[in-house]
Amino acid sequence: MYALLTDSDRFPFAPDEAERLAAAGLELVELEGHDQAAVIDAGRGAVAIFVYHAQLRVEDIEQLEACRVLVRCGTGYDNIDVRAARARGIEVTYVPSFGSSDVADHTLALLLACARKLTLVDRAMRAGGWPTWHELSPMHRLRDRVLGLVGMGRIGTEVAVRAQALGMKVLAYDPYRPAEAARIAQPVDSLEELLEQSDIVSLHVPLTPKTDKLIGRRELALMRDRAILVNTSRGQLIDESALIEALETGHLAATGLDVYATEPIESDNPLLRFENAVLAPHSAAFTEEALKEVRVRAVEEALRAVSGEPPLDPVPA
Ligand code: NAD
Repeated sequence: MYALLTDSDRFPFAPDEAERLAAAGLELVELEGHDQAAVIDAGRGAVAIFVYHAQLRVEDIEQLEACRVLVRCGTGYDNIDVRAARARGIEVTYVPSFGSSDVADHTLALLLACARKLTLVDRAMRAGGWPTWHELSPMHRLRDRVLGLVGMGRIGTEVAVRAQALGMKVLAYDPYRPAEAARIAQPVDSLEELLEQSDIVSLHVPLTPKTDKLIGRRELALMRDRAILVNTSRGQLIDESALIEALETGHLAATGLDVYATEPIESDNPLLRFENAVLAPHSAAFTEEALKEVRVRAVEEALRAVSGEPPLDPVPA
């Protein structure tokens, strides 16, 4: 019996994690990257598959002959056809608490880098410059600025607490968790209201058919002139070409992004040209602590599936 680890080059398991699997009779087979054909080839006989970035669609899942569990090593599971898996008796689990505080820290880092123009001045200094206040103006104090959070789940909530410590006023829109939004921030009734009233908007919702391109041309136009948009959730939440337009026209002052419509970002993506786009390579949860926590939890899920125990965190139906 074996378990397949995909993307093993980017997210290797530690020796003690492979040993825990081996003790239960599960050999750990490692696959570098997540090439579609290679994942299916290597995954055909696996009883458990650890999934980071691999896409598992209905036609892929049909070929997983021995699989009992697909363990998504993270929070979002939009890359797995959960219905197709469950229809074949394959459980799908995830690690919902994965890296919440890390992603919240990263969101603040992007927000601060945008507001304080940090990457811009860093690049200017390395090129021999010493930007004056005039060259950097306008910059605004964060205290009393309005941060609008879309989604008040685990990460949105943690971002709210951090932003309040900076003295920001925090608005929140979450139609599914209005009580949570009201407990921590000032709730608003619609996305439109939030966009119109915020100086900085940050996205913390999952990617679903309903949230695909949640922020398009119309929504960007509703945002305040010279607002900042931060996204650490999923690239597909934003219509990227509309975002590029909003940066080009100067309607947005800056954007801070950890996620993109296509990952890795293509070398000709216009976002790479903008001085006021602060870009990170989907690295929000790359802390040692978060990566360890996700591996320990993922191994646990595989062991439970093999021994017939119920999963700790099945993805919501
Ligand atoms: P969560 O499930 O705890 O919270 C999501 C919240 O969004 C929920 O409260 C839900 O009610 C709300 N929501 C859903 N649709 C909405 C809508 N249309 N408008 C407003 N609110 C809506 O999830 P979380 O742990 O906070 O994570 C959020 C997202 O962050 C994940 O889905 C994942 O895609 C992303 N993420 C990214 C990284 C990274 O490395 N960049 C790491 C972890 C998670």
